[in-house]
Amino acid sequence: MVLNFELDKLTRDLKRIKPKRVLVQLPEGIKQNAMEIAKEIESLGIETIFSGETAWGGCSIAVQEAEALNVDLIVHFGHAKFIDSKFPILYIEVKDELDFEKLLKKSLLKLKKFKRIGLSYSIQHRHDIEKIKKFYEDNGKKIFLSSKIGHAAYDGHVVGCEYRGLKNIQGNVDCFVIIGNQFHSMGACLSVDKPVILIDVYNDDVREMKGIKEKIIKQRAISIEKLKEADNVGVIIEIKPGQRFGAPKFLIDKFKQQGKNVILITMNELTTDKIMNFYHIDAFIELACPRIAIDDFAKYGKPILTFKEALVALGLKSWEELLEEGIV
Ligand code: SF4
Repeated sequence: MVLNFELDKLTRDLKRIKPKRVLVQLPEGIKQNAMEIAKEIESLGIETIFSGETAWGGCSIAVQEAEALNVDLIVHFGHAKFIDSKFPILYIEVKDELDFEKLLKKSLLKLKKFKRIGLSYSIQHRHDIEKIKKFYEDNGKKIFLSSKIGHAAYDGHVVGCEYRGLKNIQGNVDCFVIIGNQFHSMGACLSVDKPVILIDVYNDDVREMKGIKEKIIKQRAISIEKLKEADNVGVIIEIKPGQRFGAPKFLIDKFKQQGKNVILITMNELTTDKIMNFYHIDAFIELACPRIAIDDFAKYGKPILTFKEALVALGLKSWEELLEEGIV
């Protein structure tokens, strides 16, 4: 992995915006590069503070931290723009400069029986997508980029909570190819009904995502049943502006109408300890990131559900509708 932090763009944009004090957010994998980034920003005479909190996605914008620290600008690395915000944010997407040739050649074996390919990528590979498209077209494939919709910032761009762009093109394709990691391809295979092939650039591997979908669907059905049986329910919200999936008040009213006890909880980030301390709560609905409930099923010891799943437990959406929409 050779990361290009787009320092030229960073310098150009900072000279244009002219902040006095910035808060920098780095995803976990690039916090190790904080020193190099600090040198670049401070060389422009700008006071720099790094957020030590997690920044899993473009959703995770530290507006409260920034306001408390009285900075002029948030510089958010590693993700594309996710939401509109009144607080000034500079997104530096970061390029992963890889030589794809070997992996692409390897993928042709898995793609032998497929002609029409739906192609999606995580943001670090956007700059390579025309080359990747050309490679497949030169090898007789027809390429369709997933469409830009919702939290996807570009055609072909995929984020872990936004798969409508893939669903929009699934009638035109025989399979999907995801350039990125297991996280994005798992979300894809939960959302579409075509084979999903992952070009796993971090493990130098090409594999079809098989078997995971059935296992996760069973886990989700179990969680929904547990929520139906729960007497005491916790609805968890986040205060970051990008992490608001669903309507807490609506859920609380509906659960109360069904005779359940329900409380609203705010959490900056879920941990096992925080969840277990609410030992009297039988099930939680988590409205910050839908992937926490799905990917961390075994982690918390209590059922955690998404907004859409809560609607199923409440009888406001059918299980079939949920599967049709896609679990994520
Ligand atoms: S999947 Fe979760 S962490 Fe990633 S962008 Fe969406 S809400 Fe944020």
